[in-house]
Parts: sequence; C-alpha cells; structure tokens
Amino acid sequence: MNCIDRLFTLFREQGTAAYFGEAVTETEHALQCAQLAEQADACPELIAAALLHDVGHLLHGLGEHVADRGIDAHHEDAGATWLAQYFGPGVVEPVRLHVDAKRYLAAVVPGYADTLSPASRTSLQLQGGPMTAEEVRRFEGKPHFHAAIALRRWDDAAKVPGLAVPDLEHYRRVLVAVLLMKEER
Ligand code: FE
Repeated sequence: MNCIDRLFTLFREQGTAAYFGEAVTETEHALQCAQLAEQADACPELIAAALLHDVGHLLHGLGEHVADRGIDAHHEDAGATWLAQYFGPGVVEPVRLHVDAKRYLAAVVPGYADTLSPASRTSLQLQGGPMTAEEVRRFEGKPHFHAAIALRRWDDAAKVPGLAVPDLEHYRRVLVAVLLMKEER
C-alpha cells in the first residue's frame, strides 16, 4: 500500500497551494469532496475518486491560477493516467470524466454555469464550453456517466473556506479497501 503514502505525501507537499482561484487549498478541496461523497453513502471507489479527482493538478506542478493564464492543463487526463497505475476503472474513469461532466451539466441543466465559481466558469470556457447535443448523447452512454456526474456535484460544492473535515488518514481505510478490490479481480 506504498502508493497511499505516496499520495498523502503529494497532498502534504503539493496540496497547500490555493485551488485554482478558490478560497481553499487543493488538499482542503480534496478532503471536502471526499467528505461529501462519504456523506452521500457513495461506494468506496467513488469516495476514493472524490478524494483523488484533482491529483493531476498536484502532479503537473503548474501551480495556481493556471486558468487565469489561459491554459487548459488537462489535469483530468494526467490524473487518470497516473491513478491507473494503482486503481481500477471505478476510481480512474470518474476522475477522467469530471471535467466533461461539467461541460455536460452546463449543456443540460439550466442555470448550472451560473452556480459555478468564477474560476470554474473561466476554466469551463478553456475546457470547451457546454457540450453539443451530440457530445451530450455520447457522454450519457459512457459506463461511468452517473459516477462522473455525482463527483462533479461534490467537486463544485467542495469549496467552503475554513470547513472542518476529517484528515487524509481518515481515508486510508477506504483506499486500502479499494486497492484490495482491484487485486481480487
Ligand atoms: Fe476539483
């Protein structure tokens, strides 16, 4: 379970930067997102995905305010590829799809884009803006569609300054369980 320590070290060393123009750090955002998944009684894989969905931000080292500089760093692909070394598709795919889920919700839910934080609205445009009707149809057919939408809702809500949440160690048990599930398959 060496990779859990690697992940926690990554959060401790790289997760203290502000989360892309928000009033929380990367690690606070991840912990809030994981807590929302846990409170919703999500399966262990989806709780892990919630905790790790932005690990791509920590890996590529571009730092904060990337969206402000007009860069779309494709953190969802970088994160999913890295996570796939250790985790199965139940973790990896919702992470890969969480940006597309924002583009999907912006296309199908009236007023959704207005509920996003200013930083998230800026990145939405860099990420391609709301999906087209054809993209919506294809996205709805993906196997991890529902998980990606749930993750996206928690992601959008996990930006509360100063919220008290369980720490990283609280999630070790979930991550161990998810890694064992993959080994047993
Ligand atoms: Fe996020």
